Amino acid sequence: MRHRWLVTVALGLATGCMRSSETTLVRDAAEAMGGPSKIASVETLILEGSGEAFNFGQSKSPDGELPRFTVTELRRVIDFPGGRWRQEALRTPMYVTANPPARQILGVAGDVAYNLSPTGAASRASARTAVDRTAELYHHPVGILREALGTEANLTNARKEGGRDVVDVTIAAGATYTLHIDETTKLPVKVVSSTSNPVLGDVLMETEFSDYTETDGRKLPSVITSRLDGDTVAVTRVSAATINGDTGDLGAPADAAAASTEPPVAIEVSEVAKGIWYLTGQSHHSVVAEFQDHLVLIEVPNETRTLAVIAKARELVPGKPLTHAVVTHHHFDHSGGMRAAVSEGLTLIPHAGAEKFVEDVVQRQHGIEPDTLAKSPKPLIIQTVEGEMVLEDEAMSIALYPVDGSPHADTLLMAHFPRHGLLVQADLYSPPAPGAPPPASYPFAANLMENCTTRGLKIENLLPIHGRMVPMKSLLDVAPPAKTGG
Ligand SMILES: [Zn+2]
Ligand SMILES: [Zn+2]
Repeated sequence: MRHRWLVTVALGLATGCMRSSETTLVRDAAEAMGGPSKIASVETLILEGSGEAFNFGQSKSPDGELPRFTVTELRRVIDFPGGRWRQEALRTPMYVTANPPARQILGVAGDVAYNLSPTGAASRASARTAVDRTAELYHHPVGILREALGTEANLTNARKEGGRDVVDVTIAAGATYTLHIDETTKLPVKVVSSTSNPVLGDVLMETEFSDYTETDGRKLPSVITSRLDGDTVAVTRVSAATINGDTGDLGAPADAAAASTEPPVAIEVSEVAKGIWYLTGQSHHSVVAEFQDHLVLIEVPNETRTLAVIAKARELVPGKPLTHAVVTHHHFDHSGGMRAAVSEGLTLIPHAGAEKFVEDVVQRQHGIEPDTLAKSPKPLIIQTVEGEMVLEDEAMSIALYPVDGSPHADTLLMAHFPRHGLLVQADLYSPPAPGAPPPASYPFAANLMENCTTRGLKIENLLPIHGRMVPMKSLLDVAPPAKTGG
């Protein structure tokens, strides 16, 4: 460190009062966009347009393409000095899902990230989401250049990468953004920064800018492409930009601001049969089964809930070790607790098609936000299900089956309790709350039925990971007859 500091001082002396190459790069970029004072005077920006969004962590197969939404009526309002933005858009899924098109409203104001439901109910997103959404302010040429031109940013490490000029911009708040500038046009083409994903750990956020057009004396990109860990997560095509227009109220909704970023885990326990506990209480339920000398857990949605559910299982049956965790499928909201389960010494049981995914997730670096596994590393112990896996002794029996041919995911496991006529499944039918009318049909139900009937499973009740326990009959009600002949 000391050596590097001396070198920096020496370079500083050598260049004297000349502009550093970093400053030159930044000023040239601002010049290309209309001039440093013009860029510095952009306080708010309203972007309207359309594009695509991609459902990160929800690909059909672990290394397949991300499911896509068509995005219309998009309006993003950014207040750079206020550290706030809000986006509204209509997202229409272009993949098989039970979810209809929906108007999405989300934003950030200071350290409050929030989501608004179509009915106007506000909820607070995690602290990490607030950090990521704040970072998005600087993943726009105006946002990063406003900072880079100011007196508080630290510009370092000017270099060439792949025919581009590159400079690191550390903003006053401390985060560093790498700005890539086209050598010829001098326009910003990309901003890169690091963040932490609960499942993947340390990942890169990248935003690319192209198709610059002029608005009010400034050149602004009209195509903005965002990537996370190398996957394209959004493409925005701006059809209209307004500089310093009326932004309306960009404050965080009071309900969201007052809410906690880490709501307490709620676990409700019901023993649905002797030795089988349904652990509900939030969006993702789990099931614990008691064997003669050990316990098995089904469903590990995320770290916090998985640790709580593991603790609850140990509390329910203190005398028997919890040894295995069944992973229902690779979707991030159902596999986000795998690392926590490994850190607690559990053997993971995923579908064979998820084996590489599980190995990758368990060995990933979580240096930015160390999770339990990063803090106390343990080796992965894994048993995969190919055709069928039966866990059985005198006290309990569970048969694990791949759900073949599901349009939802290629790595789904369902768990059948043959002695109790119970079936645990995730996402293939999520019954509505009691009293609410069931849907006319459910897109994955017919395939689930087929998987059950071809195996001749005796099922009286469904124990869904989402929703509530319902009779098997309710699956028939939402499963249109399966198509024959493929
Ligand atoms: Zn899923
Ligand atoms: Zn789900």
